[in-house]
Amino acid sequence: MVINEMTEKDSGAFLANASLGRLGCSLNNQPYVVPIYFVYEPDYIYVLSTFGQKTEWMQRNPNVCLEVDEIMNQSQWMSVIANGRYQELPEPQYTSERDHARTLLAKRHSWCQNALAERQLKLGDDSIATLFFCIHVDSLTGLCATGESAESGNAAQK
Ligand SMILES: Cc1cc2nc3c(=O)[nH]c(=O)nc-3n(C[C@H](O)[C@H](O)[C@H](O)COP(=O)(O)OP(=O)(O)OC[C@H]3O[C@@H](n4cnc5c(N)ncnc54)[C@H](O)[C@@H]3O)c2cc1C
Repeated sequence: MVINEMTEKDSGAFLANASLGRLGCSLNNQPYVVPIYFVYEPDYIYVLSTFGQKTEWMQRNPNVCLEVDEIMNQSQWMSVIANGRYQELPEPQYTSERDHARTLLAKRHSWCQNALAERQLKLGDDSIATLFFCIHVDSLTGLCATGESAESGNAAQK
């Protein structure tokens, strides 16, 4: 298997085509990871979110990351990590950013169902409060595994 580092440009292109990632945050030396839907455009990740542990923790410690991967098989996969800073987008200061995030997120299939369904299960309330937040992306790294190397392929044939 050959593993290559992806360029920042390729990592960004990968994120732009993805929609589900794992959001990582931490507080008091305790990591916390949850799946979320997102949209990426250069330097920003937008999310529609419910309130809860993740938003409380990110308010207190805005240093977060998002991991996204695509796994074709054990030796063919891509994995990208974005590190950045959490920022809520409340009304009315961020109306245009919220509209922008809403427009981008609305292009995704069933973009809000998972966020709301989880809350409704827990709280039994149909009027669940939501917020938009963004992550200011500070760094992007990516790894790409492209299958067996020519040498190992030849060795296997011998
Ligand atoms: C495919 C998918 C897409 C999703 N997309 C979004 C999204 O776009 N926006 C969004 O806000 N949420 C989304 N969710 C739900 C999200 O993963 C969290 O479950 C939810 O946001 C609640 O997180 P919280 O920290 O606010 O929960 P809290 O209720 O505050 O968490 C309390 C405790 O519940 C447990 N818990 C919470 N969530 C999970 C979980 N997912 N798995 C296991 N245990 C859990 C943890 O132990 C946590 O300590 C998605 C879930 C899935 C599966």
